[in-house]
Amino acid sequence: MSTALSLSPEILAKYEPVIGLEVHVQLLTETKAFCGCLNRFGSAPNTNICPVCLGLPGALPVLNERAVEFATLAAMALNCRINERSIFARKNYFYPDLPKGYQISQYDKPLAEHGWIEVPTPNGPKRIGITRLHMEEDAGKSLHDGFPDSATRTYVDVNRCGTPLIEIVSEPDIRTPDEAYEYLTRLKEILLYTAVSDCNMEEGSLRCDANVSVRPRGQEKFGTKAEVKNVNSFRFIRAALEYEIERQIEVIESGGRVVQETRLWNANEGRTYSMRSKEQAHDYRYFPEPDLPPLIVTAERQAEIRAQLPELPEARRARMIAQYEITEQDAATLTATREFADQFEAAAKAAKSPKRVANLVQSELTSRLKAKGLELEQSPISMKGIALAADLAEEGKLSSKQLKQLFDIAFETGEDFPVVYEREKPQQISDAGAIEKMIDEVIAANPKQVEQYRGGKKTVAAFFVGQVMKLSKGQANPALLNELVVKKLDA
Ligand code: ADP
Ligand code: ZN
Ligand code: MG
Repeated sequence: MSTALSLSPEILAKYEPVIGLEVHVQLLTETKAFCGCLNRFGSAPNTNICPVCLGLPGALPVLNERAVEFATLAAMALNCRINERSIFARKNYFYPDLPKGYQISQYDKPLAEHGWIEVPTPNGPKRIGITRLHMEEDAGKSLHDGFPDSATRTYVDVNRCGTPLIEIVSEPDIRTPDEAYEYLTRLKEILLYTAVSDCNMEEGSLRCDANVSVRPRGQEKFGTKAEVKNVNSFRFIRAALEYEIERQIEVIESGGRVVQETRLWNANEGRTYSMRSKEQAHDYRYFPEPDLPPLIVTAERQAEIRAQLPELPEARRARMIAQYEITEQDAATLTATREFADQFEAAAKAAKSPKRVANLVQSELTSRLKAKGLELEQSPISMKGIALAADLAEEGKLSSKQLKQLFDIAFETGEDFPVVYEREKPQQISDAGAIEKMIDEVIAANPKQVEQYRGGKKTVAAFFVGQVMKLSKGQANPALLNELVVKKLDA
């Protein structure tokens, strides 16, 4: 990512960045937070609406129990403490896509506080604190593009009004754009495991505002922060932070002061622009929502929700490394999504060697997916197919060369491995007599290697296996071949 700025490494090193992230996540409930309207992305504009989500006079909100459950589940997965009693508050502001003139949110008594996420850093794992997780509702959308007259008009779609959200606010514990990237990656992974959201950034179900300041290294007091909004991928957030850190250092180095403001990221230009001076909390005139009672999540209810917590990615990786004797790298690939990890575990349990299943995914599958630009879930070869291939290889019924060929065919035709295997099943020579004949031939042609072997250099056996395999055009049963070569040489 190119930025307009370029300060020397010495000057950059004089400053320490401080970053805190605010993440909004839409909850995957059937209906909205305070009414019975469908909570659905992509409906025809202004169709999923009612007096409550439009804020018509006299309409009263009723809290969606499922939204509370999802928010609590997410909070627990993020190691937060749940407040048994929290308070909804009105956050007042004008926006054309907010017909109510306020948003129902939570303010000084949020649903949950004091959580953390562990992220990997070059100096080992680090905990990033989560200040709070609160519930709120989304606003509608202003549409500026995609219409013939969009140069002169803005359209408003209020379908999104009242969509249940959680806002997750981090402590200012993040010190580098890479840590911010890791934090967001882990956060998304955890939320996907709990299944409370689809975290689809293109559709806006996960949105992030990044707060960043810089301070001279060694100084305790934080510098003035800027908030960067409107960034729609984690990679862009990292780039925006990199840019913003340099911009702030340059301001300070040239004798200026950083002003507290909201800035927008322009991905095409790779820089941020000032949007407006930052509003303060008191500008919103927060007050307790008079139409909703305090939210009570009793200890008993909390226990019920906690019982629904799935095994989370970090714990799952640790267990899988121990259980299947796979590497950390294997585990990271295999737990990329919960569905995939489930499939892997089902396959690994059924297969003769879980380790071999993991290896096939890591080597043969991943490289082919990458070459075709496919995601794991778009793979033509299912985990069941991988398990079958692993078993065939384990039993010596398939040489590694044959396996590679069958995988190539599967990726060309888009068929799963079992289908390809049934049709293309390699002709394998499993007749001991035929293999022995070939071994005799190779032994006769290579007296020097035979001498070496008999002189104690047992590794030469591999040479004979290779030669016979070649002679058989890759069709000798590998397990049988190995056994017979040693038998012949030892005879
Ligand atoms: P505001 O009232 O401006 O919204 P908050 O105190 O609520 O500020 O913090 C919002 C986010 O900004 C949090 O994620 C917090 O960690 C982060 N933050 C607060 N102060 C700083 C700072 N000086 N530099 C960077 N991030 C900060
Ligand atoms: Zn409604
Ligand atoms: Mg704030």
